[in-house]
Amino acid sequence: MQERASYDRQEIYRILDEGLVCHVGFVVDRQPFVIPMSYARDADRLILHGSPAGRLMQTLGAGCEACVTVTLVDGIVLARAASHHTMNYRSVVLFGIPRMLVSAQEKREALEKLLEYVIPGRAADVRPASAAEIDATAVLEFPLHEASAMARGGPPMDEAQDMQIGVWAGVIPLRQQALDPVPDAHVKEGIGTPAYAATYDRCSRQ
Ligand SMILES: Cc1cc2nc3c(=O)[nH]c(=O)nc-3n(C[C@H](O)[C@H](O)[C@H](O)COP(=O)(O)OP(=O)(O)OC[C@H]3O[C@@H](n4cnc5c(N)ncnc54)[C@H](O)[C@@H]3O)c2cc1C
Repeated sequence: MQERASYDRQEIYRILDEGLVCHVGFVVDRQPFVIPMSYARDADRLILHGSPAGRLMQTLGAGCEACVTVTLVDGIVLARAASHHTMNYRSVVLFGIPRMLVSAQEKREALEKLLEYVIPGRAADVRPASAAEIDATAVLEFPLHEASAMARGGPPMDEAQDMQIGVWAGVIPLRQQALDPVPDAHVKEGIGTPAYAATYDRCSRQ
């Protein structure tokens, strides 16, 4: 597969649903910022959260135009020619104006979705956020109306005259993989690792 752009909703959702980190770009006084954040996709919006006191949430919550990207790196592509080395990847770029959620109820629901998005099954096990904790968290939704996906997959694309060069060529596949969970030192006796932690796997979310 060569590099390919797409506006297909399902493809955009699949990429977003595998990712964990987005990069949020915005401009303050002509200075561009690009800040990494966690996110959740919920239907046709992303949910973002942060400190209400920080510049990030204050700027985004004031209705500024923003650009959000999510990138999954699937492999490093080794060609026979130096200039044809590349990466296999899937990425999404979104443009829009985030909206600050106001009511405690919609904030609570969005934060629960964020937790469930990152670790499905976790919300049912833990102490829910208190009213004060909800109040102390800024929550934004980012519309997925203006969204595109781009992907590259497959082998290197060498030129015909380079195919005879005696050097290895191919792909080093990469994936996001959870390792064995490490229990906190204060976990009470008799409490085992929950299945959602022991078998955590974002790649199977497709
Ligand atoms: C994987 C990941 C997930 C994160 N998820 C969230 C999230 O969900 N919500 C959230 O609020 N924050 C998150 N953060 C932290 C976030 O990137 C910001 O650092 C934080 O929100 C403060 O932003 P600010 O603009 O208010 O900081 P400011 O205090 O205004 O930043 C001051 C300066 O510090 C530098 N800076 C800020 N952030 C970073 C950074 N991450 N790396 C390097 N330099 C930086 C910049 O130069 C910036 O101008 C995440 C970070 C990472 C790496």
